[in-house]
Amino acid sequence: MSAQPLAVNASAGHYDVVVVGAGFAGMYMLHRLRGLGFSARVYEQGSGVGGTWYWNRYPGARCDVESMQYSYSFSEELQQEWNWSERYAPQPEILQYANHVADRFDLRRDIQFDTKVERAGFDERNNLWQVATSDGKTVTARFVVLATGCLSNARKPDIKGLDRFKGEVYHTGHWPHQPVDFTGQRVGVIGTGSSGIQSVPVIAEQAKHLAVFQRTAQFSIPARNAKLTEDERNWFRANYPEIRTFAREQAKNGIYTELPDRGALDDGDNERRTKYEARWQRGGLTFMTVYNNLALDKAANDTAADFVRGKIAEIVKDAATAKLLTPISYPIGTKRICIDTDYFATFNRPNVTLVDIKTNPIEEITEIAVRSGGKDYELDALVLATGFDAMTGSVAKIDIRGRNGQTLNQKWAEGPRTYLGLMSADFPNLFVVTGPGSPSVLSNMIVSIEQHVDWISDCLSYMRDHRLATIEAEKDAEDKWVAHVNEVAFATLYPQADSWYMGANIPGKPRIFMPYIGGVGPYRQICNEVAARGYEGFAMTGEQQRHQAAAS
Ligand code: FAD
Ligand code: NAP
Repeated sequence: MSAQPLAVNASAGHYDVVVVGAGFAGMYMLHRLRGLGFSARVYEQGSGVGGTWYWNRYPGARCDVESMQYSYSFSEELQQEWNWSERYAPQPEILQYANHVADRFDLRRDIQFDTKVERAGFDERNNLWQVATSDGKTVTARFVVLATGCLSNARKPDIKGLDRFKGEVYHTGHWPHQPVDFTGQRVGVIGTGSSGIQSVPVIAEQAKHLAVFQRTAQFSIPARNAKLTEDERNWFRANYPEIRTFAREQAKNGIYTELPDRGALDDGDNERRTKYEARWQRGGLTFMTVYNNLALDKAANDTAADFVRGKIAEIVKDAATAKLLTPISYPIGTKRICIDTDYFATFNRPNVTLVDIKTNPIEEITEIAVRSGGKDYELDALVLATGFDAMTGSVAKIDIRGRNGQTLNQKWAEGPRTYLGLMSADFPNLFVVTGPGSPSVLSNMIVSIEQHVDWISDCLSYMRDHRLATIEAEKDAEDKWVAHVNEVAFATLYPQADSWYMGANIPGKPRIFMPYIGGVGPYRQICNEVAARGYEGFAMTGEQQRHQAAAS
């Protein structure tokens, strides 16, 4: 049975490829498709490019992978000409960069803004996707690429009374475009993940009083942000060939840094402490790569966790507050590690209160206050730093129907199933960029985005050269890949935490470790080998009949 056509007027346009989303993934996808001579249309529900950096405008928002690395590598001219101002660029500058890229590569003429893709159905008779958008139109495309983002579906918590609150309510992932001024206000922040940890110190400086509602204490490493000097920028520019190659092929997480040569227990106490101290002083994500077994061995992990716990105790003056801020319930790094500027020290300020909502969960939100432990914390404004329905949330919002009218949501009801994170069986010609089952959020995401976009681009060229009509993950290959993704994850400490990697932040979401933890280098090699073997594990059909593609 063929999927029903989505609409009668499925003729508002036809494209080789429809791309959903105009963040870094959708923008680069469009650039590559154009270069290959494919016709493409990008739909973006926001009014501008940049994705994450368009939506997350909260105070203190900035990247935590260093800007000289958290940037596109596909254009030598671009990476030589752009001037990052700081070690970790603030959100407005990253958004400016996205806009610069859109202008420089003339991307906007193929992007339709303020338009949401609502439905996509595969018409098996014609091997075409019918894509219905929020402007009431339906277009057809041979291929659809979901560049919808892993952290793009901001999640409002289900707290009793939230809608009753009379003050302003903000979500970090959906921040207003006009400046928000908290001067003289009593502000509450719910959530202490990366977004909360970045915004709390900045809001505390402005607000009359800040109440931070913490459910789970987080490990955080100082960013040591600073202005970049011209010499530093030039060093990166001169060494980009080596830096980018290393990030793609050798670094597990897509970040250029020293590779660890031993486990944490291979060093004596003093030597280990010296190394942790050096990385703490250097600041940033590389704290977690000082040893090679922190994600694997609990005893090794404990040494890093204890070091950070000790730092929290040193920084936070009030012993009870320090204790509350100390993470104890999961191994360090198994929830996404945070990078901060003065987060822990902020709790030494007289105008900041930490509220323990683990012991005393929020009972309700009234018109004027958040109530926890029978106490009302009166507020003028409330900031929800409560995160995202990660990795699958934005895909799930689209009604996607593949073969036999089956929906992707039905297929993924027990957790996402993909082959290589790129495609899902029974959904031909539908690609996902940085989807579940790929390294994605465990990496410098621009490295992973470029790798996926390049792989998809090569695949589409191959199909054109071989006069192929469809490509689709084979069920067997998908089953094996899902099993492999699980096996690798469960060999680590990651599944021990109630993290968004596991879907644990969304009530009712299946507990599956969603990203692939095998590392960007090995993953890239697997993807390349699959392609070199004629897209092994993918079924391809020619213009006349289905056949297994043979290696060319
Ligand atoms: P996004 O940037 O999320 O873009 C997806 C776009 O798709 C969005 O604009 C969305 O509106 C659009 N979209 C979704 N569904 C639809 C639909 N149905 N119809 C139309 N449009 C749709 N990663 C790092 O590697 N380093 C960092 O330092 C880092 N910092 C981050 C900071 C924050 C605050 C957050 C939230 C994430 C951060 N990330 C970081 C992850 C970040 O999401 C990625 O680095 C990257 O920006 C993702 O790009 P993307 O294009 O894949 O997705
Ligand atoms: P997050 O890591 O999921 O953190 C959400 C926070 O809200 C957690 O502290 C969570 O507590 C709390 N929370 C959620 N629902 C709640 C509820 N109903 N009641 C009380 N508390 C609740 O989300 P995020 O901080 O937005 O970060 C998401 C990811 O985006 C990061 O991990 C990172 O990958 C990326 N990011 C990066 C940066 C950066 O530094 N560049 C900045 C922001 C985001 P529990 O822990 O108990 O669930």
